[in-house]
Amino acid sequence: MVRGAAKQQAREKNQKLAASKAGGVSQLKARAAGLPIVCPSCKGPMAGYKILVQHMESKHPGAAVPDEASFK
Ligand SMILES: [Zn+2]
Repeated sequence: MVRGAAKQQAREKNQKLAASKAGGVSQLKARAAGLPIVCPSCKGPMAGYKILVQHMESKHPGAAVPDEASFK
Protein backbone atom coordinates (compact mmCIF):
# COMPACT_ATOMS: atom_id res chain seq x y z
CA MET A 1 0.00 0.00 0.00
CA VAL A 2 2.70 2.44 1.00
CA ARG A 3 4.80 1.47 -1.99
CA GLY A 4 1.91 1.98 -4.35
CA ALA A 5 1.24 5.43 -2.94
CA ALA A 6 4.88 6.37 -3.29
CA LYS A 7 4.87 5.23 -6.90
CA GLN A 8 1.75 7.21 -7.59
CA GLN A 9 3.29 10.30 -6.02
CA ALA A 10 6.45 9.85 -8.08
CA ARG A 11 4.39 9.56 -11.23
CA GLU A 12 2.49 12.74 -10.44
CA LYS A 13 5.75 14.49 -9.71
CA ASN A 14 7.17 13.41 -13.04
CA GLN A 15 4.08 14.57 -14.85
CA LYS A 16 4.31 17.96 -13.18
CA LEU A 17 7.98 18.16 -14.08
CA ALA A 18 7.27 17.32 -17.71
CA ALA A 19 4.48 19.87 -17.81
CA SER A 20 6.63 22.59 -16.30
CA LYS A 21 9.41 21.78 -18.75
CA ALA A 22 7.06 21.91 -21.70
CA GLY A 23 5.48 25.19 -20.68
CA GLY A 24 8.42 26.64 -18.84
CA VAL A 25 10.56 27.64 -21.79
CA SER A 26 8.35 30.48 -22.94
CA GLN A 27 8.01 31.70 -19.35
CA LEU A 28 11.77 31.77 -18.97
CA LYS A 29 12.11 33.67 -22.21
CA ALA A 30 9.52 36.19 -21.11
CA ARG A 31 11.33 36.61 -17.83
CA ALA A 32 14.67 37.09 -19.54
CA ALA A 33 13.18 39.68 -21.88
CA GLY A 34 11.63 41.64 -19.04
CA LEU A 35 13.72 44.03 -17.04
CA PRO A 36 14.57 42.72 -13.59
CA ILE A 37 13.72 45.05 -10.76
CA VAL A 38 16.92 46.29 -9.23
CA CYS A 39 17.51 49.16 -6.89
CA PRO A 40 18.87 52.07 -8.94
CA SER A 41 20.98 53.19 -5.99
CA CYS A 42 22.64 49.96 -4.83
CA LYS A 43 21.70 47.61 -7.73
CA GLY A 44 20.23 45.12 -5.29
CA PRO A 45 17.65 42.82 -6.87
CA MET A 46 14.08 43.32 -5.66
CA ALA A 47 11.31 40.73 -5.71
CA GLY A 48 8.77 43.33 -6.73
CA TYR A 49 8.11 47.00 -7.26
CA LYS A 50 6.47 47.43 -3.85
CA ILE A 51 9.53 45.88 -2.23
CA LEU A 52 11.73 48.29 -4.14
CA VAL A 53 9.67 51.26 -2.93
CA GLN A 54 9.93 50.05 0.68
CA HIS A 55 13.64 49.39 0.25
CA MET A 56 14.30 52.85 -1.17
CA GLU A 57 12.27 54.57 1.53
CA SER A 58 14.27 52.82 4.25
CA LYS A 59 17.74 52.58 2.66
CA HIS A 60 17.90 55.54 0.33
CA PRO A 61 15.61 58.22 1.69
CA GLY A 62 15.52 61.18 -0.64
CA ALA A 63 16.44 59.14 -3.70
CA ALA A 64 13.87 59.25 -6.47
CA VAL A 65 11.90 56.04 -6.78
CA PRO A 66 11.66 55.13 -10.46
CA ASP A 67 8.25 54.80 -12.03
CA GLU A 68 6.74 51.33 -11.87
CA ALA A 69 6.16 51.46 -15.64
CA SER A 70 9.90 51.62 -16.25
CA PHE A 71 10.20 48.04 -14.98
CA LYS A 72 7.57 46.57 -17.30
ZN1 LIG B 1 19.18 50.08 -2.64
